[in-house]
Formats: sequence, structure tokens, C-alpha cells
Amino acid sequence: MPPVQVRGQVLSNRPMGAYQLISVVAPGIAENFRPGQFVAVAVGGEDGSMLLRRCFSIYSAKPRGVYGGTVDFVYAVHGKGTQWLSRQRQHDPIDVVGPLGRPLYQRTTLYGTPAADRVAAAEASDGVCTSVRQGLPILAR
Ligand SMILES: Cc1cc2nc3c(=O)[nH]c(=O)nc-3n(C[C@H](O)[C@H](O)[C@H](O)COP(=O)(O)OP(=O)(O)OC[C@H]3O[C@@H](n4cnc5c(N)ncnc54)[C@H](O)[C@@H]3O)c2cc1C
Repeated sequence: MPPVQVRGQVLSNRPMGAYQLISVVAPGIAENFRPGQFVAVAVGGEDGSMLLRRCFSIYSAKPRGVYGGTVDFVYAVHGKGTQWLSRQRQHDPIDVVGPLGRPLYQRTTLYGTPAADRVAAAEASDGVCTSVRQGLPILAR
């Protein structure tokens, strides 16, 4: 599926150790996300002067949440863009493009080629995300 531009909403934005974890309602992105992909976020608001979007790897995605699909990403606050991001609160609008980048597809794991039954289980779940959550190998497609 091609990436989409979504004018979503901040669901939460809180510290996670030395980083920030932000959860964004972004229907259309969450549903099509595959591990290894990222989002490009407009920063600075409509009247801001920061033209370039900032990229963040997707930490997790929930296609069916109470508010619709959500994507989470973890970011380090450094420059002006991430400083602006850290000030965003629940219900603030946020403009996100994604999912971007090539997903991670691998045929083998650190432990070698996955056993047939694990491959079958992951295929039956029909979801790379599910296979990752369950600790199953990421499948080639
Ligand atoms: C595909 C992709 C995925 C990314 N995923 C993530 C992610 O998941 N989480 C994340 O935090 N960042 C991620 N980044 C990096 C993030 O997009 C940049 O750090 C971004 O420029 C930060 O925007 P800013 O406006 O805060 O800083 P900028 O204005 O772009 O930079 C300001 C100054 O801060 C420095 N700086 C900015 N960020 C960092 C940093 N993290 N460490 C050290 N110095 C820094 C820059 O070198 C520069 O000197 C990703 C980048 C790409 C291309």
C-alpha cells in the first residue's frame, strides 16, 4: 500500500526513560505498517518555519484501537523539531506521513532458519506484526 498523509491527533506523549514515547491516532498508517518502517512528521505547527518533516521509526502500531488506528514512536529530544514534538499534548493535531521505507523481511533468524511449525504458525496468523509480538521469526513474502 502507498503511504498516506494523515492529519491525526496526539493520544499521549510521555517520558520513556531518557526518551519520549508518543502515541498518535493515525488511521491508514497503522493498518498498513510492517516492522522496519517509519513515519515522517510535520513539526512546528501550521505557522511554524520548519519545512522539513522529521522521521521516526514506528515502535508499535495498533490497527484497531478505541480511537482508530494508532502508531507509537520513541524519540530523543534534541533539535527544534523534537522539542516542539515534546510539547504536544493529548488531542493536539499532528500531521503524519507513512508508513515509509522498506519493511524488514528476513528468511533466517539469529538462530538459523525457523522451524517449519513456527513458520506455519506465523503464516496462519497472517501478520508480520503478530509474528514479531509472539517472538516468531519475520517471514519472507
Ligand atoms: C528513517 C529515520 C528514522 C528515524 N527514527 C528515529 C527514531 O525512532 N527516534 C529518534 O529519536 N530519531 C529518529 N530519527 C532521527 C530524527 O529524524 C532526527 O534526529 C531529526 O532530525 C530530529 O529533529 P530535530 O528537529 O529535533 O533535530 P534537528 O533540527 O534535525 O537537529 C538539530 C541538532 O541536533 C542534533 N540531533 C538531532 N537529533 C539527534 C539525536 N537523536 N542524537 C544526537 N544529536 C541529534 C543534530 O545533529 C543537529 O545538530 C530517524 C531518522 C530517520 C532518517
